[in-house]
Amino acid sequence: MKVTRIAYSHRLNVGKYQALAEQAQRLGAVRGEVWQRYGSIAGSGLTDRQVRDRWLAEGIHHRFGVLANAWKETVRDAMADIAATRESAKVPVRRAILRHISDQKEQKRLFSLLKADRWADDPYLSRLMRSHWRRGHNRTHNQIVVRADQHHTQADEGGRLWLAVPGLVRRQMVRIPLNTTVAPTGTLRLILRGGRVEIHYQIDAASMKTSQRPCGTATLGVDKGYTEVLTDSDGNHHGDGLGHLLSAESDRIRERNRRRAKLRSIANTAARRGDQAKAERIAVNNLGTIKRDRQAARHQARVRTEIFTAVHRVVDKAAVVVAEDLTRTFTGRKQLGRNTNRRLAAWTKGVTAQALKNVSERRGSALVHVNAAYTSQVCHRCGCFGRRAGDRLHCTLCGVVWQADVNAAINVLRRHGDPDITLHTPHRAVRQIVQARADRHRSRLPLPDSSPARRAESESSALPISEQ
Ligand SMILES: [Zn+2]
Repeated sequence: MKVTRIAYSHRLNVGKYQALAEQAQRLGAVRGEVWQRYGSIAGSGLTDRQVRDRWLAEGIHHRFGVLANAWKETVRDAMADIAATRESAKVPVRRAILRHISDQKEQKRLFSLLKADRWADDPYLSRLMRSHWRRGHNRTHNQIVVRADQHHTQADEGGRLWLAVPGLVRRQMVRIPLNTTVAPTGTLRLILRGGRVEIHYQIDAASMKTSQRPCGTATLGVDKGYTEVLTDSDGNHHGDGLGHLLSAESDRIRERNRRRAKLRSIANTAARRGDQAKAERIAVNNLGTIKRDRQAARHQARVRTEIFTAVHRVVDKAAVVVAEDLTRTFTGRKQLGRNTNRRLAAWTKGVTAQALKNVSERRGSALVHVNAAYTSQVCHRCGCFGRRAGDRLHCTLCGVVWQADVNAAINVLRRHGDPDITLHTPHRAVRQIVQARADRHRSRLPLPDSSPARRAESESSALPISEQ
C-alpha cells in the first residue's frame, strides 16, 4: 500500500516556473485529447499502450510540442483518470443490481460482466452504466507527470536539494530548489499552483513508523462526530480538536469573504467611475488567490492530521472496527452549494472514511461496514426511538438520557452480525425492523396500572432483552 507525500519548491525563479507552467498547459491539451477520444464507451477496453501506439502511427503526438516521455506519461495518467471515473460509476450500478435483481445467479452474472468491463454486452447493464457514467472532460492544465527514470536530485554546497526534471527542450533539465532534504522518489506528479511547484510522490506505507504499530484486540463500534472525529462504543472520544478546527476555519472563511466582497464592490465602483488603474490594483493585490489557496491547504493538512491521529487511537484499541460506510451517504456536490459548513463537513467525512480504510489496512485491523440507519435515534438499551436534544438522547421508555454519540457507537457495534439488518437493507425496511423490535420490547413491559406483584414478574422476564 502506498501513501502520498508532497514536497514544495522553495523560491523558484519566475522564468523556470513559467517554463514549467507552459509545459503543463501543453500537456493539458494532451489530456483533453485523451478525454475527448476515450472518455466514454469508445475508450473502454483500451490500454494506454494501445493508445500510445495509435498516436505514434497517426502522428497525433506532433501537435502538442512536448517531449515524447512527457506526452506518453500524460496519456497513461489520463487513461487512469478515465478508468477511475468508470470504476466509480460501477458503485451505484452494483447497488442498483442488488436492489432490483433478486435472483442470485443473475446478480452474479451481472457483477462479473461489470468487473470484466464487458457491460456493453448486456442491454440492462449497458443502460445502467450509461445513466451513471457521464462523459467527463479534462480540467487539468497544471500538472506534469515525470517517470522515475526521468528525474534526479542533487544537494548543493549549502545542503539544499535540487530536483532536475525535463523541460520542453531535449537534454535541458529544469532545476527546482526544494523545501525539504528528503529526495522525492518514483513517479512524480508536479502540480503548479500560485508560483510554487508541489511535487507529489508515493512511498511504501509499510516503511512508515505508524504502520509497524500493532492494532488492539477489541471489537469497537465507532460513530462519526462533529466536535470530535470518532466516538467509540466504550464511550471514548477521539480527535476532540476537530470541532474547533472546523468552526474556526468556517468563521475565518466567512470573515474573509465579507472583506473580499467589500473590496470587490470598491473595485467595481472605481471601474464605473473610470478609475481602471485602481480597480486593477485591488484585483491584483487584494483579491488574489495564492494566499487563500495556501491557507486552505494548510487547514486541510491540520484536519487530516487530527483525523488520522484519532483513527490510529481507535486502532490502538481495536482488532475489528465497526463503522458506517461514510462514502455511501455522500450528498451530491450540487446540493452542498456554497454553504461552507456543509462543504467542510462533507469533506471531513470523506477524509475520515479514507483514514479508517488506510490505517486499518496498514496496521492489520479489520474494518467492517454496517448499515447505520437509525443508529443515532434509538436507545441502545430498549431499542425504542428516543428524543434527540443536541448531544443527548432521551429514551422516554427507559427514562434514561444517553450521550448521543456513545449510544450511536454501541448501536453501530450491534449492527455487526445483526441477522435482519444487512449493509444493503433499504432505509425503510430498517425502520420497520427497528420499530417492530421496539414494539415487541414494549409489549413485554408491565402496564402502568398493573399490580406490584405482576410488575415484578414481567420485569424480570423483560430483563434479558434490555441486557442484550
Ligand atoms: Zn430505552
